[in-house]
Amino acid sequence: MTARILVVDDIAANLRLLEAKLQGEYYEVALAESGAEALRLAATWLPDIILLDVMMPGMDGYETCRRLKADPQLAHIPVVMVTALTEQAERIRGLEAGADDFLSKPVDDATLFARIRALMRTKQVLDAWRLRAETARELGLEPLPGPEDSLAGARAALLGPAEVVAAMQAALQAEGMLTEVHATPEEAFRAITSAPPDLAVLSLDRAAEEEVLRLISRLRAALPTRDLPILLAAGPAAREWVLRGFDIGATDHVQTPIDPHELRARARNQIRRKRYQEQLRADLDRGLTLAVTDPLTGLRNRRYIRHHLEAQLRQGPAGVLMIDLDHFKAINDAHGHAMGDAALCEVAARLRDRLRAADALARWGGEEFLVVLAGAPTAQDCLPVAERLLQAVRATPITVDGLSLPCTCSIGAAAGPAGSDADRLIEAADLALYAAKKAGRNCVRLAPPIPPPAAAPPAADRPEAT
Ligand code: GH3
Ligand code: MG
Ligand code: MG
Repeated sequence: MTARILVVDDIAANLRLLEAKLQGEYYEVALAESGAEALRLAATWLPDIILLDVMMPGMDGYETCRRLKADPQLAHIPVVMVTALTEQAERIRGLEAGADDFLSKPVDDATLFARIRALMRTKQVLDAWRLRAETARELGLEPLPGPEDSLAGARAALLGPAEVVAAMQAALQAEGMLTEVHATPEEAFRAITSAPPDLAVLSLDRAAEEEVLRLISRLRAALPTRDLPILLAAGPAAREWVLRGFDIGATDHVQTPIDPHELRARARNQIRRKRYQEQLRADLDRGLTLAVTDPLTGLRNRRYIRHHLEAQLRQGPAGVLMIDLDHFKAINDAHGHAMGDAALCEVAARLRDRLRAADALARWGGEEFLVVLAGAPTAQDCLPVAERLLQAVRATPITVDGLSLPCTCSIGAAAGPAGSDADRLIEAADLALYAAKKAGRNCVRLAPPIPPPAAAPPAADRPEAT
């Protein structure tokens, strides 16, 4: 997994040292000698991770981090503070400025690379969601309001020796978080997967390391907890286990004995990240629904039904009904466009009510609708459904605002076996519809049989795959 890493330090020798280490692992590296330059490079080069020195003249690391995290375009880039300071208070200052992690100088290689891999995994998930949410925005969808910042009411699952868990509980409950304590990794797995919390804090103390790592890997493999933030709590002696934990899927590490400020700051960063991810997902789901829905009638749109027909034809035969309202222009002309819109909605509802669940209905455009009938190999098989829809439209006048508007439609039907070309079927239904119009409207016409798709040429004749 390659990554673009921005290294920020006011001392040139430190920059060179980290650059050499990172390039040795084939990371792309850019260097900045000040906070201001870091902000500029972050915005133009768009790194995947920023390694940020704390003590710098002018704008220090905390201020640089705060500014990065305040910029909506850059806030998602993980920031790792690299510091000679071992003071707990300094670490907490960094976490509160929004840093995602700390590394102590001199930087230990194994820890550095394990952290980069763990942060990259999280970032890749976020990047994928961001990209898709952007597409939704390009389609004209406003993003939903930003995620909640408070920890109150968030749920944390805890596992570990009694005194460690008691310290975790005190720290998190002081912030209004709800805690759930689990007795064994097995019980934790069942409870966490059946009602996923916002965060899991797992202690590696008391020689339960193997079991806890197995729990992490099972949580990562289970669908409901794939993206759950997992904080590992461990003392300095468990360093190797923490590194393995990161490689298996832990998202962060908190020192034991627990410092309440540090745990809260890390919990806040993790939960914020998770909420951000959930929001992107909600934006996307909404975007997907809107992208395939016709805003006037609430039916599926043209884009959706075309894909649906293609998918249907990969699995088996399918029929297509192209439906067009007769003399619809006259309704608009006589009663106005708004009345025409209401009539279209009423027709859409009638058509929907007369179809089976397996059939798909869409607004193809203007006053045209398209139905895909599953499992109809010939146009003749579509005839009963087409007749039923014809009847649904003409049986009683459409009533809008007390106004009674008699309405009829014409239908062209075409069908083909599995493997048929979707566009050819639609074209054939369109031609049949034209024939129905010519025959006087308010009727169905069937397209001639469509020849089965040509068999693929024998393997020997096919050009070599490249
Ligand atoms: P034909 O029987 O030949 O299909 O006659 P027609 O009048 O239905 O066909 P034509 O294609 O000439 O006109 C289609 C009409 O449908 C014209 C257009 O104003 C109307 N129409 C298309 N989309 C909408 C819409 O979204 N709302 C409303 N109210 N009318 C629409
Ligand atoms: Mg028409
Ligand atoms: Mg038309």
